[in-house]
Amino acid sequence: MRISRTTTKRTREKSLRNAIADSISDDELIEQAKQARQEAHAPFSNFQVGAAIMTSDGRVYTGCNIEQSVYSLTMCAERVAIFKAVSEGAREFVKVAVVADFETVTPPCGCCRQSLWEFAGPGTKVILANLAGEVRRLDIEELLPLPFDATFLEDDR
Ligand SMILES: [Zn+2]
Repeated sequence: MRISRTTTKRTREKSLRNAIADSISDDELIEQAKQARQEAHAPFSNFQVGAAIMTSDGRVYTGCNIEQSVYSLTMCAERVAIFKAVSEGAREFVKVAVVADFETVTPPCGCCRQSLWEFAGPGTKVILANLAGEVRRLDIEELLPLPFDATFLEDDR
């Protein structure tokens, strides 16, 4: 009985997440990431990236990569979008689009995968696109299959 209630609740939550995620099309989210990419500050690598993150309440936050002359201060587009969203009160993401101009789609770096996992629940869609129109869709679990997260820091561990 308890398992079936939990399963029913999870199924309901998943369909609600999917309904929210579907309220903005993947193409529209990709377009917002493309627009954000236009603002990239990448004078050293000349590799411009844009990201658009959709939150569980239907908002979209965008980001671009920002390079600095002290290279280690550089920030990726994905984390700029994540930090903008979190600073505005968002705590849960349903999907994210990342766009770069490369012959294949460009996956998020390891730091961004970890940062996405922190706020993205299981099943969060990661949409990778390039300017040539190639699109690849993954679940966050495929990008970070064995994540470290807050469950390891709980008091009853
Ligand atoms: Zn990154």
